[in-house]
Amino acid sequence: MAEAYCVKDKQKVEVVNPEKITMKNGKPAIQGTCPMCHGKVFKIGG
Ligand SMILES: [Zn+2]
Repeated sequence: MAEAYCVKDKQKVEVVNPEKITMKNGKPAIQGTCPMCHGKVFKIGG
C-alpha cells in the first residue's frame, strides 16, 4: 500500500488502487484514489 497527500483533505491518506506511472520528466510516481473524498491523489517516487 502507498500513502499520498490529498490536497482536498489536507492530510496523508492511504491510496486506493495505486498505479505506478511515469511523469513527463521520467521520474516514477504513484497515482491513485483518495478513500475519503474519492479524488485523485499523487505521490512522487516509486
Ligand atoms: Zn481526499
